[in-house]
Amino acid sequence: MDRPYTIATLGSHSALQILKGAHDEGFRTLAVSNRDTERLYRSFAFVDEVIALNDYSEFMSLIGQLEKRKVIIVPHGSFVAYLSLDEHKKMTIPYFGNKAVLDWEASRELQRQWLSRAGLTLPRQFRSGAEIDRPVIVKLYGAAGGKGYMFIRDAHDFEARAAHLKEAYIIQEYIIGVPLYIHYFYSPLQRKLEIMSMDRRYETNVDSLGRIPAAAQEGMDVSPSYVVVGNQPVSLRESMLAEALRMGDELVRVSKEICGPKGLFGAFCIETIITPDIQFYVMEISARIVAGTNLFIDGSPYSYLNYSEPMSTGRRIAREIKNALLTNNLHLVLDDSSIL
Ligand code: AMP
Ligand code: AMP
Repeated sequence: MDRPYTIATLGSHSALQILKGAHDEGFRTLAVSNRDTERLYRSFAFVDEVIALNDYSEFMSLIGQLEKRKVIIVPHGSFVAYLSLDEHKKMTIPYFGNKAVLDWEASRELQRQWLSRAGLTLPRQFRSGAEIDRPVIVKLYGAAGGKGYMFIRDAHDFEARAAHLKEAYIIQEYIIGVPLYIHYFYSPLQRKLEIMSMDRRYETNVDSLGRIPAAAQEGMDVSPSYVVVGNQPVSLRESMLAEALRMGDELVRVSKEICGPKGLFGAFCIETIITPDIQFYVMEISARIVAGTNLFIDGSPYSYLNYSEPMSTGRRIAREIKNALLTNNLHLVLDDSSIL
């Protein structure tokens, strides 16, 4: 098949996985890097082209040049971190995904509406410090990778440590259980949801506190922080898989009511904490490929069940684009702003 398209992404986050997958599916690949990462991306044979910027935030200056080529952008976490919502929407380069989802994801209130309409169980949210009647986590808006989150024991602790915060934040019930991040892929071509893989985050220092006995911690001035440094693979108890799939199905179903008929498609992830009564509490949804999928560039136990060949989320995205091209359905896997 003649496949003249180039798959392009920003050089960070999960770019290696996305570009390796695109290469394996027969596409040309382009990494838009910065000066520090240029050498890294040039060092891989599956990256056909690197454009180096001084800073990722200059990405919009490339739009004119990329629009003239057959380029498809595959977004990941850094797009959201480095480009504003407005900039996202102004781009008319073919874009894998539905940008209407961004508004529902970016606002914590709208996101909560989406998750609750899907019937998922959410941690309680408190409007003010005075309402706090149990341990909570205070989350700053737009905090990247868990930075700045605070564990707060009670209303008194809130007054002492969080009441003075200048930034916007939310106060959420602290759920004691194990965190599980579930990575999905919804195919608009097959109208089918797949579980691609799962991970747990490795966070400093909360994942280390258990190594010091509570008695020894007494009197130490240490409080948990949630800064992510990496990810670890998890396979879920099989009897819980059905619920994982059901939650994903419901999110896709509701997305078609709130974000236009295309709804949420492609890669997405929900962040859950599972309590001892096997209840999944859902904290957040990420509507694109997440960095935890980097554990599975060679595929995961779950993707192997569906494909019997190495199938990362990055490769799955490229396969969907390839299948769309082969069946003349490219419009189904791109945002409606994409000029073809
Ligand atoms: P980076 O590519 O490291 O600059 O990260 C881009 C964005 O993705 C930032 O908002 C990070 O906090 C987030 N991010 C990067 N790696 C991870 C990870 N392993 N888990 C969760 N979030 C991540
Ligand atoms: P998030 O930014 O929502 O992905 O959260 C980052 C990390 O903070 C998670 O991996 C958890 O360790 C922790 N966390 C977030 N929300 C809660 C919660 N409601 N209860 C307990 N821990 C939480």
